[in-house]
Amino acid sequence: MRTLPVTGVGDRVRLAGFFARLAVKEHLAPRLHVRPLVAELFLTDNCNLNCISCACWRTVTRRELDGDEWRGVIDQIAALGILKANFTGGEPLLRRDAPELMAYARDAGIRSLHVNTNAILLDDRRLGAVLDAGVRSFNVSVDGPDAAQHDRIRGKAGAFDTTLDALRRLLARREELHMRVRMNYTVMRSTVAALPEIMRLAQRLQHQRQAVAIAHPVVDPTRRTHGDHDGQEDDQRGEELRVSQPVGQFPHRAIAPTRFISLQGPVM
Ligand code: SF4
Repeated sequence: MRTLPVTGVGDRVRLAGFFARLAVKEHLAPRLHVRPLVAELFLTDNCNLNCISCACWRTVTRRELDGDEWRGVIDQIAALGILKANFTGGEPLLRRDAPELMAYARDAGIRSLHVNTNAILLDDRRLGAVLDAGVRSFNVSVDGPDAAQHDRIRGKAGAFDTTLDALRRLLARREELHMRVRMNYTVMRSTVAALPEIMRLAQRLQHQRQAVAIAHPVVDPTRRTHGDHDGQEDDQRGEELRVSQPVGQFPHRAIAPTRFISLQGPVM
C-alpha cells in the first residue's frame, strides 16, 4: 500500500469553513458566493441494484463520459483548487476504470477522496485497488438491519450478505488506514421503525465503538434524475417522510434536517 498525502489541519479548516458558508447560503443569504472545495463526480448513472427508492436503475444510460473525458474533468477541478472528490453514481464501481480515475484525481492533487457505494462489487481485489488509489472515506448503503428488509428495498436477494461482508472487511482496516466508514440508511415510511435496529447493527459492526449511521429521508426519489416512471407502484413512488417526529425519538444531531440526519449511538 503506497504512502498517501495526508489531509492536514489546514484542509480540514477550509472544508469546515466551506460547509459553514454553504449553510449560511442555504438558510440566510442565498446570494452569497461560495467557492467550491468539494466535487461530486457521478461516474455513472447506472446501477447493479434495483432500489425501490431510486430512479437510477430504471433506465440504462449509454454513452457516458469515457476515461479521457473524465481525466479532463478531473484536471479542470484540480486546477480550481478542489480539495475533496466524492465519487458517486449510480454505482461508481460499475466502471472498471473507477480506481484508475480515483488514482488520477489523487495524482492531480485532490487530497481527499470519498466513495459512495452499495459495496456489491467491493471484493478484495477491487477494495485493494480503491484503497491503493487513495480513497480513505466510504459511505456504504445499508437499507435494513437484516436481509429481509435490505434485500426487499434493494431489489436483490443476497445483497445484504454481500454488502455486510464488504463493510466488515472495510472496518477491519479502518484503524490501520485512518479511514472514515459510514453506513447510509434510507428512511422511508415503511422503514423508519427499523432505525433502532440499524443503530444496533452499526454498533455491533464497529465493535462497541461509537456507531454512526446516516439516515436519508426520501423526499421524492423519482425526480432525482429521470423524472416520471410510469408503471411504478404507488407505494414505491416517492415515499415521503416527515422526519422530525420519528427521528426525534432517537439520539441525533440534526445537521440539515431536510437533507440528512446523522444519528449517533447509543440507541435508547
Ligand atoms: S440507491 Fe444506490 S444502490 Fe440503489 S439503485 Fe440507486 S444508485 Fe443503485
